[in-house]
Amino acid sequence: MAGEPAAAGSVRASSTSTVEDALAVLPGPRTESPLGSGLSEPSGPAGCGPGGRFEEEWQRVVAEIGRAGSIDLICHISPDGDALGSALAAGIALRGLGREVRVSFGDDPQVIPESLSFLPGQELLVPAARVPDAPDLVLCFDVAAEGRLGLLHAKAFAARTLVVIDHHASNPGFGTHRLIDPTAPATAVLVDELLRRLGVPLDQELATCLYTGVATDTGSFKYASTTPATHELAGRLLATGIRHDLISRQLWDTSSFGYLKVLAAALERAVYEPAAVGGRGLVWTWVPYQDLALFSVTVEEIEGLIDILRRPAEAEVALVLKQDPDGTLRGSCRARGAVDVAAACAELGGGGHTHAAGFAVRADVPSTVARFRAALDPTG
Ligand code: MN
Repeated sequence: MAGEPAAAGSVRASSTSTVEDALAVLPGPRTESPLGSGLSEPSGPAGCGPGGRFEEEWQRVVAEIGRAGSIDLICHISPDGDALGSALAAGIALRGLGREVRVSFGDDPQVIPESLSFLPGQELLVPAARVPDAPDLVLCFDVAAEGRLGLLHAKAFAARTLVVIDHHASNPGFGTHRLIDPTAPATAVLVDELLRRLGVPLDQELATCLYTGVATDTGSFKYASTTPATHELAGRLLATGIRHDLISRQLWDTSSFGYLKVLAAALERAVYEPAAVGGRGLVWTWVPYQDLALFSVTVEEIEGLIDILRRPAEAEVALVLKQDPDGTLRGSCRARGAVDVAAACAELGGGGHTHAAGFAVRADVPSTVARFRAALDPTG
């Protein structure tokens, strides 16, 4: 699950923003939300706002922040816009309060996708090695499972206090304090609440980070997880004067030419299996490591490939397998309708959301697709 680039130093723009193992996005517009349309939701994500079911935990977390010496803010490996935007926003805010903060994530080398290069606060970033062995207080953002801490796993668990701030329904719950709200469309929404509780007003730097997080994880406000409260937050963020048009162009509408070539090859390789998933249909493809090397494209750049592959109306499930140089295949899948890809991915050692999930295996392509197919359709 390392997600290292094909060649460090040749990072180019990702076409989108989803985390490489697909753990960070909620279902697309045609999926049914278990939460309903969200139209009846009050402003503020259910559960994490004032008086919500996390009220006492929020108060404990704010108290921990108040008494901590230094604070380490970490996000998941191969960070996407929500992970990095959340950690950096918290870092900027706490620095503004005069706190000693570091922001880090457990990759070596750490690679910031070109699509996120505009995020402010990156001067707060330190390599995982510079995080103390036994930190005082660690806040981890958008980390759906311990494994996503990467090289920072041991240090995070050695912390006096480890706070988990996340929105993944699959999060098993770890750390000493947990603010895990699956109804939040992005971790950045929870960071907005954290800033409110810390008394930090939104400015353009904070808004740029939070907007990037929310826009990333809602697919630019398209996914079913988007609620009136999401738009209300977006309104407050835009009111700071940020250039959301430039942010969006960088996040979604910028890529290298090499990306187009890798995309073309992946689409040429795509297979449609109408009988799979009990007749609901499967579309899948894979990206050999050699393609990335040939066109100097990083794995971060092809995160959005799944969003193209899932377009065919004929198939309810889409799967992209991305090959790492060490032979690891990392699968990203999406589903609509009643199909639960999180359960299927769990059978391959992964996880995620019902309609967006992922896994990583050391196996060849045919056997991996066969296992995925069988996990989705045990009777088939
Ligand atoms: Mn997220």
